[in-house]
Amino acid sequence: MTNREVELLAIGAGPSNLALAVALEELGSAGLAENSLVIERSPGIEWQQGLLLPWAKSQVSFLKDLVTLRNPRSRFSVLNYLHAMGRLDDFINMGSFTPYRVEISDYLAWVANSLTKVRLELGRTCVAIEPGRDAGGTVTGWLTRLADGSTISSRYLVFGAGRDPYRPPVFDGVPAQRLIHSTQYRSGVSQLSAELPYRVAVIGSAQSAAEMFQAIQSDLPNSDVAWIMRSITLRSYEALNQFTNELYYPSFVDSFFEALPEGREQILQEMHRTNYSGVTPALLAELYADFYLDRLNGRQRKRIVGMTDLTGARAVDDEIALELTDRRTGAVTELRRDLVFLGTGFAREMPALVRGLAAHLGLDTITVNRRYRLNLAGPASAACYLQGVNEATHGIADSLLSVLASRAEDITRDILAHRRPAPDGAGHRAADGQLAAPRQLPRTADISIVP
Ligand SMILES: Cc1cc2nc3c(=O)[nH]c(=O)nc-3n(C[C@H](O)[C@H](O)[C@H](O)COP(=O)(O)OP(=O)(O)OC[C@H]3O[C@@H](n4cnc5c(N)ncnc54)[C@H](O)[C@@H]3O)c2cc1C
Repeated sequence: MTNREVELLAIGAGPSNLALAVALEELGSAGLAENSLVIERSPGIEWQQGLLLPWAKSQVSFLKDLVTLRNPRSRFSVLNYLHAMGRLDDFINMGSFTPYRVEISDYLAWVANSLTKVRLELGRTCVAIEPGRDAGGTVTGWLTRLADGSTISSRYLVFGAGRDPYRPPVFDGVPAQRLIHSTQYRSGVSQLSAELPYRVAVIGSAQSAAEMFQAIQSDLPNSDVAWIMRSITLRSYEALNQFTNELYYPSFVDSFFEALPEGREQILQEMHRTNYSGVTPALLAELYADFYLDRLNGRQRKRIVGMTDLTGARAVDDEIALELTDRRTGAVTELRRDLVFLGTGFAREMPALVRGLAAHLGLDTITVNRRYRLNLAGPASAACYLQGVNEATHGIADSLLSVLASRAEDITRDILAHRRPAPDGAGHRAADGQLAAPRQLPRTADISIVP
């Protein structure tokens, strides 16, 4: 089993850690970027690969890319990407601020290929993260375990692996091959026959369920589709106006972070429907037109089953028997399906990898400071940062592209300050005030793994 050392390890090469890699290249000093590694479990760089559908569009302005809001002159900007690809004229001529998802995905891959200092390794899956401590109990580094059995030690760790898909517990006993979460839509459908008349259920009423429902019409055109949702019917996202959109500004993170708990709660509640539990108006219009045409032509292969709770699910022979409870009448019925597509979103709790690390650290609650650094209970000369999972403390934009560029700067500057030797050379004062041990990259032998 091999162990490698880097100064900074970033887990996941989605937008968050690619923005970090760009910031490290542009802002890093004294070899930090050169001693940083990003690992990604997939064989290539793709944005939201499960729902990378040819017609799906990004929901934020193309100018909220990995870098422009921080450094509009950066060579890693989306405008430079479009120019390099010879598509800037066409893009301008389209006249849209919201690019196709595939275009953003290609931009991310282009950025990954354009990095010259930060290393990126594909096909590397992190399975666990553990702290390393010295004899006095100070956290001196992190040991990241990979699926291939190897490990990577680092003094700095940045988690950017996204949130965990939510699978309702009602499906616990159902064979995995009959369930397709939206994060696996494309790979799941590619295993199926486009000709067969599957009986399909789509669960959920928000954007990911709507996109799967729409895609199934062309990917599995002979299927019978029941779209099951708790809400009465489909609803649109609440439209943002210029005033509410200001709450997605990077500069709003400070206001949110400093707000009282009740203030934060009010903001999140009032803003909830601008980002969750809805479908884009454009997709709603397309869906409705399709339903209309089906009625016009006497086709009956798809339907919306609203106000319905999924109260049971079990595997019976080659089928899944779904128990549906009508919220209006309380009536319970059974629906037999071949496949269930889960548009059930993401778990609210911290990702399992982060919870595993917190358990090793003995943390009861997982919180970060304003600069996204994990709050540790005891002394530390190492630091760990969490990206994209801090909506409760950093606001509604935390899981979105809107704040990536400035968050990457916050983290990079925090690391640079953290690793800077104190003027008297006596030690290193962490930004949170803890006096840390003299700086040394943790060596394998120095790291004692807390069981
Ligand atoms: C379908 C969909 C559409 C969206 N559209 C928009 C939009 O239009 N605008 C917007 O602002 N936001 C959108 N979002 C929100 C989205 O969360 C952000 O845009 C952005 O992708 C978050 O970036 P991230 O890097 O934090 O996480 P992710 O994009 O989820 O990237 C995480 C990366 O880590 C990798 N990874 C995961 N686990 C491991 C592991 N154990 N080891 C190694 N690598 C791992 C993954 O393969 C992935 O590449 C959308 C989300 C979804 C689900």
